[in-house]
Amino acid sequence: MKIIVFIEKDPRTGALRDVSIELAYKAYSLVKPFQGEAVGVFVGDELPEDCEKAFQFGLHRLVYYLNAKLAHLHSIAYKNIIQAMIEAETPDIVLFGATHTGRDLAPLLASALKTGLTADCTQLHIDEYKSRGPILYQVRPAFGGNILATIITPEQRPMMATVREGVMLPPETKPQHPIRTEPFALRFQEQWIINEFLSVAPKLTKINFNRTHIIVAGGAGVGSRANFRLINQLADAFGGEVGASRAAVDFGFAPKERQIGQTGAVVRPKLYIACGISGSIQHRAGMDESQKIMAINSDPQAPIFSIAHLGIVGDLKEIIPVLLQYLKEA
Ligand SMILES: Cc1cc2nc3c(=O)[nH]c(=O)nc-3n(C[C@H](O)[C@H](O)[C@H](O)COP(=O)(O)OP(=O)(O)OC[C@H]3O[C@@H](n4cnc5c(N)ncnc54)[C@H](O)[C@@H]3O)c2cc1C
Repeated sequence: MKIIVFIEKDPRTGALRDVSIELAYKAYSLVKPFQGEAVGVFVGDELPEDCEKAFQFGLHRLVYYLNAKLAHLHSIAYKNIIQAMIEAETPDIVLFGATHTGRDLAPLLASALKTGLTADCTQLHIDEYKSRGPILYQVRPAFGGNILATIITPEQRPMMATVREGVMLPPETKPQHPIRTEPFALRFQEQWIINEFLSVAPKLTKINFNRTHIIVAGGAGVGSRANFRLINQLADAFGGEVGASRAAVDFGFAPKERQIGQTGAVVRPKLYIACGISGSIQHRAGMDESQKIMAINSDPQAPIFSIAHLGIVGDLKEIIPVLLQYLKEA
């Protein structure tokens, strides 16, 4: 069993993207029972400065292709190079982070390799399928998040999937492997570069849901943008981040980048406080693996209470000020 993981670096920091480390560990855990190999492939201008982390978390080998013209994503060039790497390595499985880059390249490659691709998987495991031996079972929400579909690619190889950042977190203990990098030989062709980067604007957000322990999220039940200040105050009092349901974003209570759920961020904090959020399946898809969930809702029948470890039934406009006062005194 051989799994290829697309290794990506953040062009702003030069460091590995968290999702690459997460997938390195996932690939390692999937191949371990078969004594298989987890191989990273990297394309860019320079290797990520902290690429040893991918080996600490399970990568056995990293195959790389460097060229100064590849500092930014050039879809055709990246696709051609990674396709050549995949054809040389003949992996069983190829995994991409569901980043902008991964979402661009994975369908191009699946189409070129005439194989299947399952996007935004929330679980991956390997099992037997009929007489075909071990194959990848790819689980993802489907039909607007109302069901979890298990998708397989029984005929074609490689089996391909994308996974969003923060979904498959590695454990704290690391399976150490020595650093083993190999350059990939391929003649670079100028006609692969079809666009020119004039400038790159930095993303104006400082939200990092993956590095915060506490998230206080507000939903439609918050009632107004003015009331949403209570959510900000509670998050500040805990030293946490602010999240929002899609309804809260749609009502303009919070910006889109704070949305949590199927079409927002996937989070797993130590504590998730859901205020005025009903707990739709689409919202739960982004937060139900939080270590502890606390819910404040005026409706005792709200579905969020079925996954909450602590539930408070009542008006959040009365409860949050009491919590703030308690935190201040404590
Ligand atoms: C394809 C698709 C993707 C989607 N993706 C997402 C997603 O990523 N994230 C997401 O969140 N949603 C998503 N949705 C929308 C989702 O279906 C729900 O509509 C949304 O989550 C509801 O948000 P809410 O819980 O804030 O609002 P509501 O469902 O309206 O719930 C509001 C809650 O507030 C409570 N409440 C009201 N007043 C108070 C008060 N004063 N004090 C305390 N509680 C009060 C009510 O009892 C109620 O339970 C998606 C939908 C689709 C179809």
